[in-house]
Amino acid sequence: MDESQKEAIARAITSEIEKIEGEIPRLRELSQPVAPDSALGRLTRMEAIQQQKIHEANLRSLEERLVLLNNARRRMNSDTFGGCLSCGEDIPLARILALPHCTTCVDCAS
Ligand SMILES: [Zn+2]
Repeated sequence: MDESQKEAIARAITSEIEKIEGEIPRLRELSQPVAPDSALGRLTRMEAIQQQKIHEANLRSLEERLVLLNNARRRMNSDTFGGCLSCGEDIPLARILALPHCTTCVDCAS
């Protein structure tokens, strides 16, 4: 993996992290428990609770992804970055760009 490839990956990871970090505060707010007596406008309380659960699930998966991305960013400085941890082959650049946190090639992931 050469430097320009690494740079492309670093950019992809950083922009993804920024996107997620921008999204999390909004989701945190949306996934606050629904107050028993809150005025909900058009939504029934049941609908509001359903929405809240969805936001909560989204928030959790984004937070997990953020951890993986930060790990990937740290790993970028090591020699093994970009190689499959399982078979040692290079992971195709397109795969790393799509899934910056992946640590295995397609063959080993399946
Ligand atoms: Zn592999």
